[in-house]
Amino acid sequence: MESTLDPSFFNQINLPAEATNDMSTSISQLKEDLAIANQILANEGVFDGFGHISVRHPDNPERFFIARSMAPASVTAQDIVECDLNGDVHDAQGRKSYLERFIHSAIFKKRPDVNSVVHSHSPAIIPFGVTGARLRPICHMSGFLGSNVPTFEIRNTLGESSDMLIRNQSIGESLADTLGQNTVALLRGHGNVVVANSIQLAVFRAYYTEGNAKLQAEAMRMSFSMGAGEPIYLSEDEARNSAETNAGQVERPWNVWKSKLPKL
Ligand SMILES: [Zn+2]
Repeated sequence: MESTLDPSFFNQINLPAEATNDMSTSISQLKEDLAIANQILANEGVFDGFGHISVRHPDNPERFFIARSMAPASVTAQDIVECDLNGDVHDAQGRKSYLERFIHSAIFKKRPDVNSVVHSHSPAIIPFGVTGARLRPICHMSGFLGSNVPTFEIRNTLGESSDMLIRNQSIGESLADTLGQNTVALLRGHGNVVVANSIQLAVFRAYYTEGNAKLQAEAMRMSFSMGAGEPIYLSEDEARNSAETNAGQVERPWNVWKSKLPKL
């Protein structure tokens, strides 16, 4: 059935003031939160040695912050560099950022409503990108998935001989086109991207995208082995309403995840 839900709804959800990166948030606090976000996503198994999260500059929407090229578990505020929306690094000081920073530059360019982007290789989502099985919200924590999680097929842009990486702005823009106004897109055989309007909500969504994939795969196995067909997914209204409710609660899991971080 054709969806009637406007996916941009999920990016218009109002957050409590403390969860948004509004103009009053200092740059140093934003960099600190971005470092903590890297550490949380690594500690919670969404990132491994790879993966990155970015945040738009609160005073200059043509710039964003992201870590230099390094393992996310070790990122500190001193490791954050500034990029523009073509993926050029501006305060490099000899540091290189990630090869795949163009994921972030292209999405920030196409989506003015987005303030934070996560790219991970979170493993449980991979089967959904390669089988045609749709990733759908199976529990209330992942209502933000909405009714459409598109899959980016890099072969449509680069043929069958690429190294699968988003290594320039042009490929990044193809990915941003596939993402469209949705919250999550899968990269076939590679990983996913998750967007939100704050660092905290982006971390929340990346964490629960991985969790939803695990739960959905298990529910599908049980349901199909019972001959019961597709599991019961959230309706569009259930997805929208639970996403709105949960967006007001992101500080709670953020603080729990932060408290579990090992001291660097
Ligand atoms: Zn990647």
